[in-house]
Amino acid sequence: MSTDAQSVAARLNSAGFIRSQGFIGGKWTDAYDGKTIEVTNPATGEVITNVSCMGGRETNDAIASAQDAFVSWSKQTAAERSKCLRKWYDLIMAHKEELGQLMTLEQGKPLKEAIGEVSYGASFVEFYAEEAKRIYGDIIPATLPDRRLFVLKQPVGVVGAITPWNFPLAMITRKVAPALACGCTVVIKPSELTPLTALAAAELSIQAGIPPGAVNVVMGNASDIGEALLASPQVRKITFTGSTAVGKKLMAGAASTVKKVSLELGGNAPCIIFDDADLDVALKGTLATKFRNSGQTCVCANRILVQEGIYDKFANAFSNAVSSMKVGDGFGEGVVQGPLINDAAVHKVESFLQDAISKGAKVLIGGKRHSLGMTFFEPTVITDVKSEMLLSREEVFGPIAPLLKFKTEEEAIRMANDTNAGLAAYIFTSSIKRSWRVSEALEYGLVGVNEGLISTEVAPFGGVKQSGLGREGSKYGMDEYLEIKYICLGNMS
Ligand code: NAP
Repeated sequence: MSTDAQSVAARLNSAGFIRSQGFIGGKWTDAYDGKTIEVTNPATGEVITNVSCMGGRETNDAIASAQDAFVSWSKQTAAERSKCLRKWYDLIMAHKEELGQLMTLEQGKPLKEAIGEVSYGASFVEFYAEEAKRIYGDIIPATLPDRRLFVLKQPVGVVGAITPWNFPLAMITRKVAPALACGCTVVIKPSELTPLTALAAAELSIQAGIPPGAVNVVMGNASDIGEALLASPQVRKITFTGSTAVGKKLMAGAASTVKKVSLELGGNAPCIIFDDADLDVALKGTLATKFRNSGQTCVCANRILVQEGIYDKFANAFSNAVSSMKVGDGFGEGVVQGPLINDAAVHKVESFLQDAISKGAKVLIGGKRHSLGMTFFEPTVITDVKSEMLLSREEVFGPIAPLLKFKTEEEAIRMANDTNAGLAAYIFTSSIKRSWRVSEALEYGLVGVNEGLISTEVAPFGGVKQSGLGREGSKYGMDEYLEIKYICLGNMS
């Protein structure tokens, strides 16, 4: 471990921020068979700690705890639940440095970005602390004089929340905060690659007064945990963020008990730069959306479509900007690109690049593993990319910026929509008319116009087509954890 990472880990450990057990019914719990898995720092390959490797039995106990807690948590007033969530928010923010450091240790993203994710993750807790008090029902005008018709909104029950490694905190709070606000309880399964941030957040939830059993964390054998969550009739909702392939499996598995399902899956974001774009705005926005988290986000620009009139100018300016990005350990001064999460991620990036080069694409800068070794990869710009290449068809999930040329607005829209994914899209143009026309034509759940960073707790986040079902964040995010009950009062005259 580098000196910095080593001393950070020691400090976090002695302050109690590094937890290695699962969290069931408010108790820190080992795997029942004593098995553990290593959590490593992707920047150094060193083991940070060994955490419990859990499976079906621990998950069933976590579900039972969540079910017990649901009985009382769902009966608390909205104001009481709100207070606990607000306290949880305050605690997360009070410890944003430590949580950010923990995230950089296990995930690799630069410290500034990690601390930014802590604030972003916390913003969902704050927002839903407020929304808890706004779960309104309805009174429907009756169709008969002696009747009264009401609509109640009630919590769905126990929620299974399965989350990925690329946003170790925000993908959890985006689900758990609205679930708790509605009166649901949760069993969280974080990625085995980044469980430490989740465990630290769970500890803070208890300190905030969220009752034992309302928040449980199990990690380890993903398919066993997934199967237990899917098989249990007590789990009434599965909320998942991760790959489209696993999302499809979970959706199919949820059918046997007819659970509510929401899915935040992979993207293949087009970033369209029109001739009339402000070049500086387009450069800044494209850099931000492409290289955040070393290209490992579902909303990262995956295909950069540039109109022919501005193509060469943009390619040069973009390559210059990319060449000045500092790659390194996330604790390093001025570092903006950390390592990729593991070797499999690097192999994927290399195979996509190889496929593109063999079909005629040209690397402008980067294109290979970084001299730092490990899983560091050079920020790369590649030109002459075509629609049939893997780089255009699938999410590369790495720091590769493929440039594709187009002639007309119609062609750009056709290219942008030519994918099964439909999460985020970006356009850069100075024309207001065009920005409306193209935004409406794009088959995506989110559109950024002249802006590369668009996620916020107050707006709905989610995809169309095979990028998912449902929305997270905003007032719409509450609906995912509520059932609608119609009550008819008869004989009222
Ligand atoms: P992943 O492989 O699908 O894993 C996501 C989560 O599912 C992890 O906790 C994983 O556990 C778990 N999992 C894997 N197989 C499972 C199974 N059979 N049953 C139950 N759980 C299972 O995805 P990832 O590689 O971590 O994340 C990257 C993907 O997430 C990308 O495609 C990205 O676009 C997508 N993503 C989408 C959004 C969005 O909001 N739409 C946001 C962020 C990321 P283990 O890690 O422990 O194996």
